[in-house]
Amino acid sequence: MDSPEIRALEAHRTTVAADEAPFVNRRDPARRLGPDGRPAVSRRAPIWADVPDEKWNDWRWQLSHRVNDLAEIEQILNLTDEEREGLSAPDKFRVDITPYFISLIDPDDPDDPIRRQVIPLGRELRAFTGMMEDSLAEDRHSPVPGLVHRYPDRVLMLVTTQCASYCRYCTRSRIVGDPSQNFNRREHEAQLDYIRRTPQIRDVLVSGGDGLTLAPKLLESVIRGLREIPHVEIIRIGSRVPVFLPQRIDDELCDMLQRYHPIWLNIHVNHPNEVTPELARACDRLTRAGIPLGNQSVLLAGVNDCVHIQRELVQKLVEIRVRPYYIYQCDLVEGAGHFRTPVGKGLEIIEGLRGHTSGYAVPTYVVDAPGGGGKIPVMPNYLISYSDHKVVLRNYEGFITTYEEPLEYTPHDRSTCRYCQNPRPEPGQEGITGLLDGRRMWIEPAGFEQLHARGNVETHRLQDPHKWVPYGVGAIEGRSAPPLEALGSGEASEAEEPVGAGPGGAGTGQPPRRYGPGEEPRPPEGAPTATANHELL
Ligand SMILES: *Cc1c(COP(=O)(O)O)cnc(C)c1O
Ligand code: SF4
Repeated sequence: MDSPEIRALEAHRTTVAADEAPFVNRRDPARRLGPDGRPAVSRRAPIWADVPDEKWNDWRWQLSHRVNDLAEIEQILNLTDEEREGLSAPDKFRVDITPYFISLIDPDDPDDPIRRQVIPLGRELRAFTGMMEDSLAEDRHSPVPGLVHRYPDRVLMLVTTQCASYCRYCTRSRIVGDPSQNFNRREHEAQLDYIRRTPQIRDVLVSGGDGLTLAPKLLESVIRGLREIPHVEIIRIGSRVPVFLPQRIDDELCDMLQRYHPIWLNIHVNHPNEVTPELARACDRLTRAGIPLGNQSVLLAGVNDCVHIQRELVQKLVEIRVRPYYIYQCDLVEGAGHFRTPVGKGLEIIEGLRGHTSGYAVPTYVVDAPGGGGKIPVMPNYLISYSDHKVVLRNYEGFITTYEEPLEYTPHDRSTCRYCQNPRPEPGQEGITGLLDGRRMWIEPAGFEQLHARGNVETHRLQDPHKWVPYGVGAIEGRSAPPLEALGSGEASEAEEPVGAGPGGAGTGQPPRRYGPGEEPRPPEGAPTATANHELL
């Protein structure tokens, strides 16, 4: 009975049976089942309990049933006094939340991390030191409306001002949400035209607002327009739609997108609670359509300013095949004051991730330069010292090691390298090339020499006064500064009137008041912001 032959036969049978039975992957978040044996679903707020599934799962239904006023929201959440204040403020940044997303909030927890991202608080209307309306100076880097050309080889293309829901800390709250300021075909055409005429653009980032909220036909026409430009190598979409409105990621959208490859997409998830079965399925669809996914998150006080939350977030993202790309320091934008953290918090988070979890799960921590310098990576110091042939490094545990560099290294031969012989021309980077090949010892921004010769380095910073006009920085409150030398006595002062001229001036019979470095007429810290007072910043 128990002969080796029989045992071998049994073993063979089991193997065959295992091969034939369909393998159920219970680890894949996109295949997760609920207690009823059907695909897992997130909680639904009780007011929508009777909505049929076909409607709930229809993105058009979700969009047209977004909630935006106090009366509606108080049926869903137990609101605090400060939330009531925030929701009643007349000039607040737009509130609109999909039923799916607001249902993820614990109605009784005022500190719920999803709630803090979408429900306004009274304190968001308060000014803070360094606050700016357009802190990344995007408007000034826009050759045509909605196109931000900051880097040599890539542009940010804002195709709409609309989003599926609105984040309280939005960096573009100056334009986002306002349906009367939307971009349409005419702007898209002007944007495409600029890209067509600018051959160094090889990468276009489609954002907004949120490009995936565009009507499907319009979205396709923008993407096709980009794909028809021969020098556009990659198209990237930055979208929070998979998070706010995962229903929108349907087969029709994925089929459309995959006709225009290479397309990459970055989503925007800030807290592990947002990683739901619905998001997992949306990401699964996108990755099956061949679209690599990344995540950009914002470091937000009271939401994700914690190493443990971040570790859980990035690991859950990797599980749904989303590569954490950036974690942004919160911008100096109006409305975001109470979300800001010290930069040390971001460094602590990176220290707590690098080495402690998969390298795939570690994003780059960046500060988007106030005044518009682009994203600047901020890193903990792992390099302890670097001397002749010896590099002293520390690892994530504090273990210190040295790397011996080679004593002999034959430098790369630029004269025979065909890549070096035909470098891609990059305006603004000429200086760096000069540094590397020894033609120059330093680089200076354009116009620097001339200003430096006048012995006024401070003026250099202010040659473009729009570049740096935060509230409070460098200003001494209640004291009006003497006029600036370089700007106060030349042609420049006329051209820069909007910044240089304060109360007084035209029509008041008084000479215009001048403001010193970094000064401008702004409410004092803690006071209501200009927007809240119906004024332009
Ligand atoms: C973020 C951004 C980009 C893309 O930057 P990457 O670091 O390549 O992701 C391009 N243009 C603008 C204006 C941006 O803000
Ligand atoms: S989705 Fe992006 S653009 Fe829209 S409100 Fe949020 S941060 Fe702003």
